[in-house]
Amino acid sequence: MDFSLSKEQRDIKRAAAKFARGEFQPELAQECELNHRFPRELYKKAGDLGFIGLDYPKEVGGGNMGVMENTLIVEEFCKADSGIGMAIHLAYLPAKIVKIFGTPQQHQKFLAPLVKGDWVSAVSFTEPDHGSDLTSMETTLEEKEDCFVLNGTKVFTTNGTYADFFIVLAQEDQEAPPGKGMTTILIERDSSTWLGGEMKINEIPNKMGLKMTSSVELVFHNLKIAKENILGERGRGLLNVLDFLDESRIEIGAQALGNCEGAFLKALNHARERTQFNKPIINFQAIGHRLARLWSHIQSIKWLTYYAAWVCDHQTGKMSRTVPLFTSMIKHHVPEIAKMIIDETITVFGGYGYFLDQDVERRYRDNRIIEIYEGTVEVQLNNIVRILKKLNLDFIGSTLL
Ligand SMILES: Cc1cc2nc3c(=O)[nH]c(=O)nc-3n(C[C@H](O)[C@H](O)[C@H](O)COP(=O)(O)OP(=O)(O)OC[C@H]3O[C@@H](n4cnc5c(N)ncnc54)[C@H](O)[C@@H]3O)c2cc1C
Repeated sequence: MDFSLSKEQRDIKRAAAKFARGEFQPELAQECELNHRFPRELYKKAGDLGFIGLDYPKEVGGGNMGVMENTLIVEEFCKADSGIGMAIHLAYLPAKIVKIFGTPQQHQKFLAPLVKGDWVSAVSFTEPDHGSDLTSMETTLEEKEDCFVLNGTKVFTTNGTYADFFIVLAQEDQEAPPGKGMTTILIERDSSTWLGGEMKINEIPNKMGLKMTSSVELVFHNLKIAKENILGERGRGLLNVLDFLDESRIEIGAQALGNCEGAFLKALNHARERTQFNKPIINFQAIGHRLARLWSHIQSIKWLTYYAAWVCDHQTGKMSRTVPLFTSMIKHHVPEIAKMIIDETITVFGGYGYFLDQDVERRYRDNRIIEIYEGTVEVQLNNIVRILKKLNLDFIGSTLL
C-alpha cells in the first residue's frame, strides 16, 4: 500500500496552488461575488497554463491523465477561493461527458477550444418536474430526415449565460419504460449552427451562493440540430449521464474539500492572532480543541476523496464495481462534513465570521449547493443503501470490509 502522490501529481498540486494563491485575489473575488460575474479572464489563464482538461486525450491538447489529477487541481483552486474555484471548475466539468462518449470529431470540435479556456460548457439534465428523478424527460427529441428536433424546458443549467455548448438529456422514445429511451445531444450556443427553431436562455436570479456562475432556464421550441450532434449511443442517455456522474461527483466532492480546507486555514490563523483576555484565542480549550477536531475531519475526507479518485482511475476487475459506491460516499459525506467544518470556522471568527470580508460566510453559502447538485445527499444515500442491501457479509476475502 502506497499513499503517496507521484512526483508529477505533487508538481500539479503545487502548480495549481501557486496559480490560485497568486491570481484569486480577495478584491477580485469580492468584485465577482458582488457583480455576479464569471471570472472569464482567470478561466482563460487556467486553460493557457494547462489546468483544464488534464483528463482529456492528447489529440485535443489534454493531459491524458485521470480524475486524481483533476481532483488535486479543484481542491487547490477551491482552497484558495470557493467562488472562483467552483466557477472555473463548473465551466469545464460538463465537457467530461463529451470526453467519455464523444467521437474524435466531437472531441476536436468541443474539447480543443475548451482545453485552451476559450469555450465554456454546460449540462442540462434537470427539468421543472424532473430533478432527482431523471428516469424520464419531458424534453423531447424527434428524428427527421435531415436533423433532430428538440422541444421542452430545462432549469438550473449552470453557466448557461456564458456556455458555448450544452449537453442536453432528452426523451427520444416516449413509450419507453422508466430510465430508457433517452438520448444526449450537443447544442451549440451559436445560432448559425441551428437548422431552424429557437432556444431561449432565461437567467434565474437570486441564488444563495455560487454567485460567480449563472443559473438559467433553457426553452427549446422546434430547435433543429444536425444529426452529427448526437452524443453517444441513442437510447442510452441516462446511462451516459450516470457514467459521467461517477467521475464528476468525485471532482465535485473535491470542491467541498478545498472549500473547507481554505476556511480552516483562515480560522487557524485567526485563532493564533486574535487575543481576548490577554491570550490568543487558540489557547482557550474550546477553540483549540475545536480546531484539532476540524483538522482530523479534514484529513479523513481528504484521504477518502483521494482514494475514491484513485479507485475511479484504476477500474480493473472487482474494483470497477465499487466506483458507484465511492462516488456516492464522496458526494454526500464530503460536502456534509465540509459544511460542518465551515460552520465551526464561523464560530472561531466570532462576529467577524458573519461578514463577507472574512470569507468564511461566503464559503458556507458556496459550499451548500454541493449537497444538492449532481444528485442530492438523499439520492446518494439511496444509492448506498441499494448496495448495502446486497453487501456480502462473509467478509473474508472482501475488497470492501
Ligand atoms: C445552483 C444550482 C446549480 C445546478 N446546476 C445544474 C446543472 O448545471 N445542470 C442540471 O441539469 N441541473 C443542475 N441543478 C439541478 C440539481 O441537480 C437539482 O436541483 C437536484 O438534482 C435536485 O432536484 P430538485 O431541485 O428538482 O429537487 P427534488 O428532486 O424535487 O427534491 C426535493 C427534496 O426531496 C428529496 N428527494 C427526492 N427524491 C428522493 C428520494 N427518492 N429519496 C429521498 N429523498 C428524495 C431531495 O433529496 C430533496 O431534498 C442545479 C441546481 C442548483 C440549485
